[in-house]
Formats: sequence, structure tokens, C-alpha cells
Amino acid sequence: MAKQTNLHCSFCGRSRDEVKILIAGQEGHICENCVEHAQEIIVQELQQRTETQTTQYKFNIRKPVEIKEFIDQYVIGQDDAKKILSVAVYNHYKRITQKQSNDEVEIDKSNIIMVGETGTGKTLLAKTIARLLNVPFAIVDATVFTEAGYVGEDVESMLTRLLQVCNYDVAAAEKGIVYIDELDKIARKGDNPSITRDVSGEGVQQGLLKMLEGTEVLVPPQGGRKHPEQKMIKLNTSNILFICGGAFDGIDKVIARRINTNAIGFNVNKIEQEAQRTNLLQFVTAQDLKSFGLIPELLGRLPVVTHLDPLDAKTLRAILTQPKNSLIKQFTRLFSYEGIDITIDDAVLDFMVEKALEYKLGARGLRTICESILTDAMYELPGTDVKKLDVTLEYAMEKIGNSKLNMLKVA
Ligand code: ADP
Repeated sequence: MAKQTNLHCSFCGRSRDEVKILIAGQEGHICENCVEHAQEIIVQELQQRTETQTTQYKFNIRKPVEIKEFIDQYVIGQDDAKKILSVAVYNHYKRITQKQSNDEVEIDKSNIIMVGETGTGKTLLAKTIARLLNVPFAIVDATVFTEAGYVGEDVESMLTRLLQVCNYDVAAAEKGIVYIDELDKIARKGDNPSITRDVSGEGVQQGLLKMLEGTEVLVPPQGGRKHPEQKMIKLNTSNILFICGGAFDGIDKVIARRINTNAIGFNVNKIEQEAQRTNLLQFVTAQDLKSFGLIPELLGRLPVVTHLDPLDAKTLRAILTQPKNSLIKQFTRLFSYEGIDITIDDAVLDFMVEKALEYKLGARGLRTICESILTDAMYELPGTDVKKLDVTLEYAMEKIGNSKLNMLKVA
């Protein structure tokens, strides 16, 4: 602690002789430099607030723990991904606010890449975060993009979607989130046998670089290909968060190969190795994604890598009932609109999970299965005197038995 005789600015630490004025407060002092600096911050902060308030999107920044708690209400499991996403998103929005206060240390953008089987909740995670933060959110599919000059869409058209969802509110779009699905499909054609797509994959990756990093882009308001007569909208992507997802089929082999190579010479417990092999995705790194066919420059702009776990029976069962807008809650609500009180036996829920696993439909299949069981009732009951429906295992089995779902069994 500085003594009273050795006065200094409590903000910058400069001593009495290094400054012109030192203003005393109750428990400290402030120099004229810090007063000026504080004034600048106030002006910027107030300006930023008015800017955000002009749009219908009022920024809702939360602490990482709160972000995760919010996601927990909608997404089951996937704890690693939730934690990593919460931190990345929090840092991203801190970075935006910090940028406006002219700090010298510039924080890099924390664009994210999620690796996980299809239907494990990648899109749901991104969507839930956008909902919490109250920012515009667009989902785009990497497979529709082609390198400039080929038939298909320019990468810029993903920003068109973002503008469209917020009614062309440029300020809001510039702080939005874009989810790029199926990033694995634009991997460079390599030795990996699972990559069958065209040669323009690498061109699309190149096209994405600047946009992910942050640049001014001229966006065609209606999407599609740019053409000279079209009036463009200028959009700066520096503060847009890009979250990418992909199944990266076959990447487990790449990871296994890397882990085995690294393990040479070490005494690795065989049983432990076998256990880890069941979900190798948890060890995914940028290096594996590079071996899979993503170019290093692209990976450099997607610094946060995370994985999603495959959904087991327990998770699927929880997905049916636990999320805030779970399938069962949604169907129950639909029936209640008709004045019908529906109860679904636990055995039916277990049966649905069993079928989803049997047909390899994942979480997405749960809806199809629910519909197969309940469509007849939703068709027949409205307008009748029936006010109660008890869905028993017998009822569910009969409905599934009659449905087209059974055909999937052969596959
Ligand atoms: P992905 O993007 O990984 O292919 P989605 O996020 O689109 O998968 O998931 C498809 C659907 O499955 C979601 O709309 C959601 O209803 C359900 N779902 C998948 N994973 C989960 C999860 N972990 N928790 C809750 N619901 C999930």
C-alpha cells in the first residue's frame, strides 16, 4: 500500500510529480490523463447504447455460467460443447465491447467449429445461444456454395440470410451469429475415402477466409449470384460470430491414427485406450480437421474446436421430456388446444427411444416416431366428445406397426 506521503493516481499508478493534477477521492486519487480517458469511455459507451437501442435487438450479454444454464434448458447432455461454446460466445461479445473502448490489446475472434454426428444438437446449440443473446441468427448450408465462377451461390449470400432474418437491420446483422452447417462437405478432396465431393471445396474454403476473419462485404440483398446491376448492401463481418458444424464422417479414424502414433513408446493402458475409442471425437483437434481436408488458413480462423457426443438411450429418453419445449410437451400442448388431456405411459417413451435407436434415426427421428403414434388421434379426435387419451404401449405398438416407419427396418 502506498503511503499518504507518496501520492499517486489510483487508476494509472503515476506518482504526484508525473502528473499535472491529482484529484482526491474518498479512498484514492485520479490524474488528469485518467479523467480524459474515462470521459472517452463514457462517450463511446453511451453512443454504443443508443446504437443498440435503435434496433429491435437489444444485446443480452450473460456470463458463461448463465449462458450454459440457459442452454441446459433446451439441450440435453453435450456438456463439453456447452461449456466451450459459452466461453467462446462470452469472449466474443466481450471482444466487441472492448473494441469500442480503444484498448490496445485486440482479442482475436472466437469463431467455433463443432464436430459431431448428425442430429446430436449442433444446430440446436447455435440456435439456443442466438436466442439467449437476442441477436439475428442464420443457418446456412456449406454445400450450396461454390467457388466464384461456378454454378451455385457465392459465399456472401450467407450474409443475405442474416440480413433477411433481421429485416435488413445492418447494425443488428453486424452482431449476429451465422451457423454454417456441413462444413465437412467442403473439405479438400484427399486420401480420405469418405470425401466424394467436387474439387471446388477448397475454393469455397478460400472464399470463406476473409469473411470469417472480418471484412467489409458487399452483400446481394436477394442472395444468389452477384450481378453488376444489383444494388449491394455493405456489411462488416468483424463482429459476426461464425459457428460451423459438421459430421466429419471418418474423422475418428484420423484421430485414432494420430493418437496411436503419439502413443508409440508410451505405456498406454490397452483397456483405457479401448474405452476412449468409443468416442474418439472428444480428442478432435485442428490437426485432425486439417488431415480431413480443411485448409490451415480456414482452421486458423476457427480457433475454437469442440465435439458433440453421440446420443445414447438415456440421452434420447431425456430429450423426449426434459427440454423446455420437448417433443412430449409440444404434443401435449397441441392436444390441450383441442381440450384433450393426453397421458403417455413411460413404457411408450422407452419404446420410442428403442425405435429411434433401432432405425438409427437419432433425436431427429423421435419426432417422426411421435407423429407416427399420434397422427391418427390428431386426425380423428378434434371435434369429437373424446376429452381424454391414454397412450399405452399396446396403442403405440399398433400405430407404429401400421406406419411406414416399419419399412426402415429393412434398410
Ligand atoms: P445437428 O445440427 O447436430 O445435425 P440438430 O441440432 O439439428 O442436429 O438436432 C436435430 C433435432 O434433434 C433438434 O431439433 C432437437 O429436437 C433434437 N436434439 C438433438 N440433440 C439434442 C440434444 N442434445 N438435446 C435436445 N434435443 C436434441
